[in-house]
This record gives sequence, C-alpha cells and structure tokens, in this order.
Amino acid sequence: MFSKKVQAISPSPTLAIDAKAKQMKADGIDVIGFGAGEPDFDTPVHIREAAIKAINDGFTRYTPVAGSADLLEAICQKFRRDNGLQYEVKNIVVSNGAKHSLANAFAALLNPGDEVIVPAPYWVSYPEIVKMNDGVPVIVETVKENNFKITPKELQQALTDKTKAILLNSPNNPTGQVYNRAELEAIADFAVEHDLYVVSDEIYEKLIYGGEKHVSIASLGEAIKERTIIVNGVSKAYAMTGWRIGFTASTATLAKMMSSLQSHMASNANSIAQKATIAALSGPQDCVAEMRAAFAARRDAMVEKIAAISGLSCIEPLGAFYVFVDVSGMLGRSCRGRTIKTSDDFAAVLLEEKQVTVVPGTGFGAPEFIRLSYALSMEKMLEGLERIDAFVRSLE
Ligand code: PMP
Ligand code: GLU
Repeated sequence: MFSKKVQAISPSPTLAIDAKAKQMKADGIDVIGFGAGEPDFDTPVHIREAAIKAINDGFTRYTPVAGSADLLEAICQKFRRDNGLQYEVKNIVVSNGAKHSLANAFAALLNPGDEVIVPAPYWVSYPEIVKMNDGVPVIVETVKENNFKITPKELQQALTDKTKAILLNSPNNPTGQVYNRAELEAIADFAVEHDLYVVSDEIYEKLIYGGEKHVSIASLGEAIKERTIIVNGVSKAYAMTGWRIGFTASTATLAKMMSSLQSHMASNANSIAQKATIAALSGPQDCVAEMRAAFAARRDAMVEKIAAISGLSCIEPLGAFYVFVDVSGMLGRSCRGRTIKTSDDFAAVLLEEKQVTVVPGTGFGAPEFIRLSYALSMEKMLEGLERIDAFVRSLE
C-alpha cells in the first residue's frame, strides 16, 4: 500500500497543460498555448553571463543550505529597496524555486489538522502543498464584485480554533488582482488579532500595470512582520523559471527550521543559479521594465479582445500575466454534437477544434472560468484570440 497522503495529491494541471502545448509544438502541430505560466522572454544577458562566470570561477560546490552569504545579502538589500523591509541574512532561506519555498513554509508551520485559509480562485498548488504537509486547506470563495479579494468578514466566517495561517497571493494567479494597502491592513489586523500566520506569495510583485503599487503585508508593522513568511523568487520577474531559485523572509526561528528541513531534503539551491540571482537582483533593472511594458501591451490587447467576444467576460487584471475569463455563458452550448458542460469540456473541445490550449478554472477552484496567459508573442496571442472567437461563434 503506497502513501495515502501522496495518492491524495493531484499533479499540477498548469504544468501538465504547458507540457502538452510544448509537445504538440515539437510534433509540428500549429498549436497556440495560453497555458504558459512562464515569461516567453529569454533570461537577460547579464544574468546569463554571471552564471557562466560562476562556472568558470569554479563556484560549483555546496553552498550553505540557506544560500551563499553574498546572495543572502543581495536579497536583504532587495527587501530594503523594494519593500521597505529590514531583514538580516538569518531571516532568509533560498530554495529551489518559490514552490519549494512554499513547501518549506507550510512544513515549518503546520501540525496535523491545522487549517490554512486559501482564498479562491487560488493558484493550483496551494491546497496540494498544504495537504502534503498534513494541513487542511480551507477554501474560501471570494466574490467578483470585490475583484476576488478576500475580506476580514469572509476570513471571520472561515475561522475555527484550528486555523493556523492565511495564504495571500498578490498580484494574484489566476485573477491578476492586486491588494491595496488598506485591504492588506485589514487582513493584517485580523491575523494579529487572531494569532494567525500569513504566507504571502509575492512572486509577481514586479509585474504590475497601471497605477497600483505592490505592498508587502509584512511591511505594515512589527506585529504582522513577525507572523508573515514572504515567498518570492526570480522566476517571473527575471524570466528565470528554469533556474529554480525562490526565497523566503521570516523570523529567524522559522528560517532556521526551514533551513534544517531543507538540509535533509535538498541541501542548497544550485550554486550557479545563486550567482545568477545576485546579478538579477542587484544588477540593472531595465530588463524588468522592458518585459513589463511588453506584458502591459498584451494585457490591454487581450482584455479588449475578450470583451469583444460575445458571451465571454473578464475583470481587468492589474498584475501577473493572466486573464481570468468567465465562460459560464458557454456552458450548456454544444459543438458538433458535444455538449460543453464544464470549463474542462470548453478547454478540451477548444484544443481539438482549434489547437488552442487554455487552463480550465477547475484547478483554481473556479470551475466557470478559464485562464489565459499572455506570456506569448503579441502576434500569436492575437491569432489565438481569433481562434477562440471563431470557436465561441461556432457553438450552438
Ligand atoms: N507562486 C505562484 C503564484 C506561481 O504562479 C508560481 C508559478 N510557478 C509559483 C509560486 C512558483 O514559482 P517558481 O517557479 O519559483 O517555483
Ligand atoms: N505557476 C505557473 C502557472 O500557474 C507555472 C506552472 C506551475 O508551476 O504551476 O502556470
């Protein structure tokens, strides 16, 4: 009998769909992939060069588990510069991607049966990572009218004597919504009042369009800082998904626990990628501005096109690189005799009919939605949206 816990975990649907689109492309099929959760840009040259230098300098051995001293210092500087947060190296743990950082965070926080409030729509991996660490994800529906952002009232309804932590993700995957300072203050007050931890996933921090500013909940005062584990990394902002570097900032006690766990699970994150991360965080930031500008233009074009497709709608995303599209108007319609009952059906039939991949909302806890990523070229994106338009018009 294999592990019941592991058998209760479902594989990541976002990674599966992305792999499917990549395979179809490799097979010569003219597929357009809206599944990608990774920037389509190459890692900027100065970051790649830092990695090559690290190899040639022989920086190829184990580093301290939590990361090399110069990287930890660069991360502390990043928190001071970008978030107004004072951390010391003892507060930082570098891991193999933000996903690994999240796993460390929940492993350090949870005892069997502890509940974690996960606002829906949520990124696919949160409930699974909580379950992997013996916790219970408590999914709380948010409403479109509040742009899918959780409020203290909704938190209050989910609160039990087992509640241990709140998962916060701003900018949000999949909705693209961003919490403002006042909203975060209300959540911070709630967490402090009820003695809860906050795991704050800020991986899309640099990808915000328009006027909204990223605020880290940990920067709202000492009491909430003590109760927050910030998760961040370089995958999204610096087009470094394959390098696998994420990090946490937390109290020194929690950092020590996560580092001790990681010392047996993975040791240090890749030494070469650590040097590349220093170049990313401390080097010129215009590469981020350029990628952000390209994402912003695509976001505008995608939102405009979705609004023009009869029966589809979305809330304008303010950050990340996804548009979360309401397909409830499509459910019950049919395509050549096949009835579309769910967003999974919508995605499957769209792929068959038009060779377009999208991620159904089911894995995000929002079954009447699909997620479209705009991490693909403007040209491909517009062609893919034309295909979706034609598909929707063909439904009876
Ligand atoms: N958090 C969110 C919200 C994400 O979308 C992702 C995407 N992979 C991650 C964390 C994990 O990022 P990483 O590639 O650094 O593991
Ligand atoms: N986070 C990205 C996404 O949501 C990448 C895939 C994954 O890690 O799940 O698509």
